[in-house]
Amino acid sequence: MSERFTDKVVLITGGGSGLGRATAVRVAGEGARLALVDISEEGLAQSARAVEEAAPGTPVLTVTADVSDEADVRRYVAATLQKYGRVDAFFNNAGIEGKQNPTEDFGSDEFRRVVAINLEGVFLGLKHVLPVLREQGSGSVVNTASVGGIRGVGNQSGYAAAKHGVVGLTRNSGVEYGAYGVTVKAIAPGAIMTPMVEASLKQMDPENWEEAGRQFVSVNPMRRFGRPEEVASLVAFLLSDEASFINATTVTIDGGQSEKY
Ligand code: NAD
Repeated sequence: MSERFTDKVVLITGGGSGLGRATAVRVAGEGARLALVDISEEGLAQSARAVEEAAPGTPVLTVTADVSDEADVRRYVAATLQKYGRVDAFFNNAGIEGKQNPTEDFGSDEFRRVVAINLEGVFLGLKHVLPVLREQGSGSVVNTASVGGIRGVGNQSGYAAAKHGVVGLTRNSGVEYGAYGVTVKAIAPGAIMTPMVEASLKQMDPENWEEAGRQFVSVNPMRRFGRPEEVASLVAFLLSDEASFINATTVTIDGGQSEKY
């Protein structure tokens, strides 16, 4: 495999699970040095082990932090710079799904919680990482949006608002920072089998969630969930120099679901 990330510093939020962990493993296999951020210390420890297994000797910094807390965001950026002195690529990815309810039953506190993590967390990451990339005159960012950020899914007021917001932030900051040699893109995944989706299926049908999953993907053109490794492959491409003229846009990865009539 080509080594697109030899010695590059890749900073990943939500690095303790799912898409963040799969991306960490993927770019480590291509030579990256890693800074992994997550609210879950245990998740970070598991990710560090997964990276060590896949790419022994990879430098891995782990920082336990809440992406919705600006002091924590300053701290994870400072810790990354202290260890490596730079950031080449930033996967601004941490997020939660939140409770599913129709709008009239959607809790106002729940709305604010989901928006704080999924939208404000992404904004704070951009606010504190983009100046580092501007100063360097290079760097790439991938924000994690969702199909729920470009289409109506239902029962997800907070998530929909936040993820549509992430698509907007991506357009905005890509336009602002392109002149400095910095690109900002987003991904819009459909249903990818991670702990988040498993928890979501358990919310829909606690007894029979595996069957609920089969029903769920029976309407996908590809009749299956996506795999975290498939998303990691897209993210690695978007973070690499191969995607150097892709900016301010969102790339969908959903097996064709959102294009289906
Ligand atoms: P996941 O639950 O496996 O991983 C999310 C990680 O984010 C967890 O390790 C969690 O501890 C961390 N996290 C949560 N809140 C945090 C906070 N406040 N500060 C720091 N870390 C925090 O889920 P995933 O599927 O890997 O999700 C990653 C991203 O992908 C999320 O933004 C999610 O909305 C998005 N996404 C996932 C899917 C999917 O089908 N899996 C689809 C579309 C979008």
